[in-house]
Amino acid sequence: MTESHPAPATSNSAGNPHFILEHTFGYTGFRGDQEAIINTLVAGDDALVLMPTGGGKSLCYQIPALARPGCGIVISPLIALMQDQVEALRAAGVAAAFLNSSLGYDEAQQIEGRLLRGELELLYLAPERLLQPRTLDLLARAKISLFAIDEAHCVSQWGHDFRADYLQLSCLHQRFPEVPRVALTATADQRTRREIAQRLDLANARHFVSSFDRPNIQYRIAPKNNPKRQLLQFLNNEQQGHAGVVYCLSRSKVESTADWLQQQGFNALPYHAGLPAHVRAEHQRRFLREEGVIMVATIAFGMGIDKPDVRFVAHLDLPKSIEAYYQETGRAGRDGEPAIALLLYGLEDVVKLSQMGATSECSEEHKRQERQRLDAMLGLCEITSCRRRALLRYFEEELAADCGNCDTCLETPATWDASEAARKLMSAVYRTGQRFGAAHVIDVLRGADTEKVRQFGHDRNSTYGIGADMSANEWRAIARQLVVRGYLRVNAEAFNALQLTEQCRPVLRGEETLLLRTLPKSAPAKASGRDVSAGAPRAEISAEDQPLWDALRALRKSLAEERGVPPYVVFHDATLREMLSARPRNRDEMLAISGIGDSKLTKFGEPFLALLQEFEPACTDV
Ligand code: ADP
Ligand code: ZN
Repeated sequence: MTESHPAPATSNSAGNPHFILEHTFGYTGFRGDQEAIINTLVAGDDALVLMPTGGGKSLCYQIPALARPGCGIVISPLIALMQDQVEALRAAGVAAAFLNSSLGYDEAQQIEGRLLRGELELLYLAPERLLQPRTLDLLARAKISLFAIDEAHCVSQWGHDFRADYLQLSCLHQRFPEVPRVALTATADQRTRREIAQRLDLANARHFVSSFDRPNIQYRIAPKNNPKRQLLQFLNNEQQGHAGVVYCLSRSKVESTADWLQQQGFNALPYHAGLPAHVRAEHQRRFLREEGVIMVATIAFGMGIDKPDVRFVAHLDLPKSIEAYYQETGRAGRDGEPAIALLLYGLEDVVKLSQMGATSECSEEHKRQERQRLDAMLGLCEITSCRRRALLRYFEEELAADCGNCDTCLETPATWDASEAARKLMSAVYRTGQRFGAAHVIDVLRGADTEKVRQFGHDRNSTYGIGADMSANEWRAIARQLVVRGYLRVNAEAFNALQLTEQCRPVLRGEETLLLRTLPKSAPAKASGRDVSAGAPRAEISAEDQPLWDALRALRKSLAEERGVPPYVVFHDATLREMLSARPRNRDEMLAISGIGDSKLTKFGEPFLALLQEFEPACTDV
């Protein structure tokens, strides 16, 4: 035994991870790899942690930072979020602080003083701040328990969140060889993993790769027919008063969608890179602090938003890859409560995205890769089997069974024999010279009398009017599926003309039967089949419990406002829900509720106990 090993802690000692989990964070057990990761760091070794959003990465470095002597340094790229993270820790009684450019000189001095005096347990820093020689010198004079590198995928030059500063973080290993380091990310793909290990000099770190499944997120992907109405129906029927994110591709669509939702009476706010910084900051603040705000945003919004109670993420445009889809939908349901990821997509998305790819300045190789990623995304949209299995398979993870919590599991998609319709469409594409986009080809098929039809003499074409029995919407859906499955392609370099591929020969010759998804009727969602929300085991509040539930939330809100923190810093929804069902009557029973530790009990226990007592049915002696 050498002296560097921590003394074996007994289960009730204050430096013991389990004790900290219970008393500081109010939880009864570790999840997944948490305990193994914490033990690795407590023992002084390095770790690389890949865990999906909501998996519980924070505790993996917070607990060892508390268990080891010295202050834990957390490197996070998002200055805007540091304050909330630090507030949440303070509510749990942890001596936490952040150092960033938002602080004045005096405040920063004060925090540096506390660090040097050993009064801090956790300190959050942005990478650029950390790498300043001044900061590195400061750290060299302090006692450091560990370095946690959050959002570690920012070292990846291929990812969309690349930060040049992150590359230099490998210097920590040289300057502080005895301090354990942990790098954490929710990015699932293999290449990024390898890059992190290599660039952060974590070759000798233990790797912890969790399952990337997010079982509480219900995946739904539907063709777009009337996106506004589809969204409205979803919000009205299932998401009343819930917080969520609606993603759109363009800034103008963000603005118009947010306006429209406001007109419909929703608390919706726009967010995109074109808005002034103070407006963005204000909208982000409101999203975090107020309840039930819907953020309508481009993908500029979201990285590291660790609001736990986002109940839905809706995409009104197709994400450009499965990685992006997974990351964006992953912002829903971090608290583990049921959440829904809804994606609406259509032929125009495919066209728009391939256009963006074709006109970008990137190399051919890069474009080809982008195209492949888009194809994989489209494949996910069109499959008729379990979405979650396909999604995880993409990240090289195999689920043992269908998930039971995605749209295709909940309601098996019906298919129909579309061979003849496909032949008609392919013929129309061919006979009009493979020079026209879907809209015109469909006009020809349906025998429409448009100027363009007359201009090109297509009213005399042999395919003119052969598809008049189906609506334009139905034809668009067929065209979309044929593109996605590779029978047709959209040539972005030639006015998005539809063209035939080799693959369509057997269909044209009648040798292949083509089964496509049954087209959704334009009428409101069919009443047949099961309710797709049935798979979500959301514990709805009963009418009887509603008054107490509202009162609990109102109390949480007023306590949060008094302190100027988001409501979830006081208690998460799951904690309130448990209070509602367990009805604790004293401090001990209160402590047994998940999410209530010593500090929160002291700060918030009394007012909640008093409130619960008010709702206690009048006592009748037996
Ligand atoms: P991540 O950073 O991986 O997205 P967080 O660290 O924010 O996830 O944790 C997600 C949620 O899970 C938080 O609400 C957190 O309090 C909760 N949580 C984490 N670990 C546990 C645990 N062992 N028991 C109960 N809840 C936990
Ligand atoms: Zn499924």
